[in-house]
Amino acid sequence: MKHYEKFFINGKWVSPNGDGIAEVINPATETVIGVVPLGDAEDVRNAVAAAKAAFPVWSSMPPAERSQCLQRALYALSRRSGELAKLIANEVGTPIQFSRLAQVGLPVASLGTASQMAARLGEKEQIGNSEVTREPVGVVACITPWNYPLHQVVAKVAPALAAGCTVVLKPSEIAPLNAFAFAEIIDSSGFPPGVFNLVSGLGGTVGEALASHPDVDMVSFTGSTAAGRRVSELASQTIKRVALELGGKSACIVLDDADFETAIPAAVQACFINAGQTCAAQTRLLVSRDRYERAAEIAVATAEAVRLGLPLDEDVTMGPLVSANQRERVRKYIEMGISEGAELLVGGSGVPDGLQTGYYVKPTVFGQVRNDMRIAQEEIFGPVLAMIPYENEEDAIRIANDSPYGLSGGVWSGDLARAKRIASKLRTGQVEINGGKFNPLAPFGGFKQSGNGRELGVFGLAEYLELKSIQLP
Ligand code: NAD
Repeated sequence: MKHYEKFFINGKWVSPNGDGIAEVINPATETVIGVVPLGDAEDVRNAVAAAKAAFPVWSSMPPAERSQCLQRALYALSRRSGELAKLIANEVGTPIQFSRLAQVGLPVASLGTASQMAARLGEKEQIGNSEVTREPVGVVACITPWNYPLHQVVAKVAPALAAGCTVVLKPSEIAPLNAFAFAEIIDSSGFPPGVFNLVSGLGGTVGEALASHPDVDMVSFTGSTAAGRRVSELASQTIKRVALELGGKSACIVLDDADFETAIPAAVQACFINAGQTCAAQTRLLVSRDRYERAAEIAVATAEAVRLGLPLDEDVTMGPLVSANQRERVRKYIEMGISEGAELLVGGSGVPDGLQTGYYVKPTVFGQVRNDMRIAQEEIFGPVLAMIPYENEEDAIRIANDSPYGLSGGVWSGDLARAKRIASKLRTGQVEINGGKFNPLAPFGGFKQSGNGRELGVFGLAEYLELKSIQLP
């Protein structure tokens, strides 16, 4: 049981202004595994004041020294990686093997990249009579969700600090324990006070106070489209820079010339990753009407082979959903799919066998889905795949793009040139061809209502830098 009672502000652990708390529930056992304080606007004012006061010191520190602080944090994070993988498996329900790889492996990689990039900052560019420099944006508020909680924290905080910005972090109230562990790591790594501050709390109080605070120069937000819209509205009052990483309803197009025995199981996995609680999950599987029956057979077999169970069991491939609310939402969508007339091929809204305790949902595949159904248009955030038949290549591209979202997508084909041609027509920030792996150095972000701005690698760093032109005589 982790019991945090204080926030990390101005280099110290300080008591919150109010007395609210949030309990953290293990979604597999439904037991309380931790408690964190819930902050208010006064806590936000204190944290922002600390970040503002630290900005002149941190931003004028030589980039190589900032890099050394980040390297020490990287070392401390790496040393705690086993413990953190287990903690996040317990907070989110992610199976332990995947938790090691994604929930902790990615943050370790991002912190390493940020420390290397920090060391290389400070270059000037000459354009005509102008010297163009890059300067840190200022005080950055980072607001993060629960699904890949530490990854989303580090993907924002590390490049912001590398750039010379100071930070106030508000993690998700649903999986905040890892963010407190991260604050301990920063605390032990020799950063000047106020450079990094942590205030936990609810979106409507702490999140909104950050988005509207006049001394916050930028908000980097990852979460739902509805909350992102609200953050943008509030931030617009003081013309803050806003980076938004929002929801998705990504499509995977499997062409007739693809190897179905490889493509379909991989496409189903790309939907079920982290029990479908992945913004870039490929939740619509587009298959030609001619080969649809075979694709459906393989998809069903893949869903049936999922090993549902306790996240700490090494053999488990899918854990529970994060919360009772999330399970309720997903069950409602499954029932909606049935009432909309989609064909339930496998799964359903009932309790999975032998899993009465825990927020489990059956891996579910719907067949004969039409793209105008709500289960094809709305983000479900659970292990629910919609198989949509298409007539030809143009039709597949049209269906894939017929979405308010534009985060990710996939194309499978025996012909790489053909797959790349289709990828170029998808209005999304990412496309995976034949299962191409996630690259933590490539820019990550969305088109359309999936957000704006990019995270990770050099493009992620650029989000936290202002350009300045100095005209020389
Ligand atoms: P959420 O929007 O409910 O919460 C995200 C964060 O925003 C939390 O810290 C929350 O407290 C805060 N928040 C909520 N309302 C707010 C408000 N009015 N003002 C300020 N802050 C507010 O999302 P969630 O349920 O935690 O996460 C799931 C969502 O996140 C999904 O829609 C998913 O697609 C999206 N997501 C996107 C990406 C991406 O990179 N595009 C990555 C992961 C998750």
